[in-house]
Amino acid sequence: IHCCTSTGCRAANSLDVQANMQSAVKEHGLSDRVEVIGVGCMGFCGRGPLVEVDPNNLLYEEVKPEEAASIIDALNGGTAKPIQGDTQHPFFARQMRIVREHSGKIDPERIEEYIAVGGYQSLYKALYDMTPAQVVEEITKSGLRGRGGGGYPTGLKWATVAKVSADQKYVICNGDEGDPGAFMDRSVLESDPHLVLEGMAIAGYAVGANHGYIYVRAEYPLAIQRLQKAIQQAKKYNLLGTQIFDSPFDFKVDIRIGAGAFVCGEETALIQSIEGGRGNPRPRPPYPAQKGLWGCPTLINNVESFANIAPIIREGADWYASIGTEKSKGTKIFALTGKIRNNGLIEVPMGITLREIVEEMGGCVPDGVVKTVQTGGPSGGCIPAALLDTPVDYDSLMAVGSMMGSGGMVVMDQDTSMVEVAQFYMEFCRDESCGKCIPCRAGTVQLYELLNKIANRQATQKDLEQLEALCYMVKEMSLCGLGQTAPNPVLSTLKYFKQEYLELLQSPV
Ligand code: SF4
Repeated sequence: IHCCTSTGCRAANSLDVQANMQSAVKEHGLSDRVEVIGVGCMGFCGRGPLVEVDPNNLLYEEVKPEEAASIIDALNGGTAKPIQGDTQHPFFARQMRIVREHSGKIDPERIEEYIAVGGYQSLYKALYDMTPAQVVEEITKSGLRGRGGGGYPTGLKWATVAKVSADQKYVICNGDEGDPGAFMDRSVLESDPHLVLEGMAIAGYAVGANHGYIYVRAEYPLAIQRLQKAIQQAKKYNLLGTQIFDSPFDFKVDIRIGAGAFVCGEETALIQSIEGGRGNPRPRPPYPAQKGLWGCPTLINNVESFANIAPIIREGADWYASIGTEKSKGTKIFALTGKIRNNGLIEVPMGITLREIVEEMGGCVPDGVVKTVQTGGPSGGCIPAALLDTPVDYDSLMAVGSMMGSGGMVVMDQDTSMVEVAQFYMEFCRDESCGKCIPCRAGTVQLYELLNKIANRQATQKDLEQLEALCYMVKEMSLCGLGQTAPNPVLSTLKYFKQEYLELLQSPV
């Protein structure tokens, strides 16, 4: 019996559910046949606590601690009813799990369970069957693109670091997930930390680095705790540290805890933060691949990117490249939230449409209609219901004025004010701007004030024109990605929902 012990279900008392189930197993005399184990996230986070009974994939939702015993009783012919079997429920049926394959199935605090499902075999294969150049080539051929938001080709990044000659190189895993509504990386770290560590070690071997850092935000204490445990266990089994698998390859991993600044997700700011400085972005070039942590060549990928590496090495680049679209390969995890029936984490093949996600998997808006889907967090945009047939891939989302981002997907209904949505995201960017460059520091303040003026019905047509012009100025003149993308939610709402702005002007048009 799998009992989710990740943050979402924990908040709904899943630890008590687990304890009560363990007691009930003993009381029913089933200890020789039934084991209750704590596992990572099963994905259906809005319905937690979740309990799954294997081998029949029976999923119980919103289990209360006092109901735990009735599920055990059902195993002995009792009457507790599960929701539909795991694979048949629409929320699960369209998913393709590569990164989340073992999430919710294994105990993330026991390395033995990760090894039992094939864990660390890809690292072994890389070390003994492949040269570093072959590993880089395999990742390049797979077509994997950075899952942190930018979509930069991962193999190209690895090749750039690999070809720089240096005595010391570093690998950094960016776990500074900060978009409102996004919790994909937290879930991966909490549910399958060894998958990320294995990906980092393979990356270290491929680019010639022997030291890695994972940068995780302090707001993710369970992820940090499970990573700490995973690193200790991997060292014990000679899977991290010196002479991994008795090969000449050494790789150690340290954790650095971020203090919650959104801008530290930007790679040059993150590097400064690891070095002990204030997390301020710096101009590029030089890129971190040439001059990164402590001036050394540094490979930075995010959590989900690293979590894709072991499956690619295990199954091969051709297999991975056969999934998805021509330019966006593989799967992507989204945090599907907002005014929708089925909330939680989904992993879907690239190219699936927004409509399939929102209507089939998400189960539509209860008692209402979809007005817009916001993707990409504060850097993304609002896609109107009329464009729900847009395929979900890097380029298609950009073409409609939004972006993939790290994977936040917020569904909004007919009662949502799009001006208020733009205000919300601009307030976030204004607060999170590091203040280093004037276009972003002053521009986000002015944009927020103009949006306030419009929302309070004090603005004129001229203010609206100024709002749009200022958006383009901030986009073009800001130093880093935060400022360059901060106007996106305003621009996309202006593009698709301008009438709502016009109706709020002093002299409505
Ligand atoms: Fe800082 Fe914003 Fe400039 Fe980035 S764009 S450096 S966050 S002020």
